[in-house]
Amino acid sequence: MIQLENVSYAYGIDAKPALRDVTLSIPQGEFVAIVGPNGGGKSTLVKLILGLLKPRTGRALLFGESPEKTRCRAGYAPQQARVDFNFPIGVLDVVLAGRFGAPSRRGPFSPRFSKSDKEAALAALERMGVAELSRKSFGELSGGQRQRVLIARALCSKPELLVLDEPTNNIDPANAERFYELLAEIAKKSSILMASHDLGVVSKMVDSVVCVNQVVHIHPTSEFNGALVSELYNADVRLVRHDHRCAEVGAHSSVYE
Ligand code: ADP
Ligand code: MG
Repeated sequence: MIQLENVSYAYGIDAKPALRDVTLSIPQGEFVAIVGPNGGGKSTLVKLILGLLKPRTGRALLFGESPEKTRCRAGYAPQQARVDFNFPIGVLDVVLAGRFGAPSRRGPFSPRFSKSDKEAALAALERMGVAELSRKSFGELSGGQRQRVLIARALCSKPELLVLDEPTNNIDPANAERFYELLAEIAKKSSILMASHDLGVVSKMVDSVVCVNQVVHIHPTSEFNGALVSELYNADVRLVRHDHRCAEVGAHSSVYE
């Protein structure tokens, strides 16, 4: 389903590579977690897989083809800190935008959403426990509410592959638990790729773990133990502290502090 061959990526010509020589293969039907320190390259990896970034070297395939062509078969909830919310848009419209890839639609530019599109959008909001927000403006929602709406958007087209970048960052523990129950149910029918810091949850729920810290290693969940975690995160203590100090200016802190 996902294949990367010797993929490297850097954000600027002289920039240090965010990802270096990544070769990776993920079969259909798996629930895969992406873990690694902040700045390790998790979001970059997700964007390369979806064709939102193009590899500097190597190539990425999604469902055996160029990701630009096939990413309509995936639902994507981006990491929220990176999304700009300063535009006036209703919650239902945010979710409906997730229907662009839905197979039932006539084409990506058909101007109106059908009744079934709206029903699917409302059902997705319902699944995320935020149906009552459907008539609100997206901008007036709390971080956790926005997060759940963005996940509803990713779910809305019933994608073959669900891609979630740190989906529980702004969600309180009770709702996060409910969300993981929903994910377990979705995982029976779809493939899931999820960047997450919830290592306990990750090791219980997923089939394999992709460890990302500029380079990438994939492990079956059974190998994902304390030694691997400290190897992955220890080198990054300075970075995490730095994040912590920056908390008051808006950087979010991580569970590793
Ligand atoms: P993670 O998701 O694991 O926190 P990212 O993929 O966001 O990591 O970032 C990997 C590296 O790329 C970091 O060094 C980060 O600073 C850099 N980076 C990410 N996005 C950009 C961007 N838009 N422009 C420049 N550098 C970026
Ligand atoms: Mg990220």
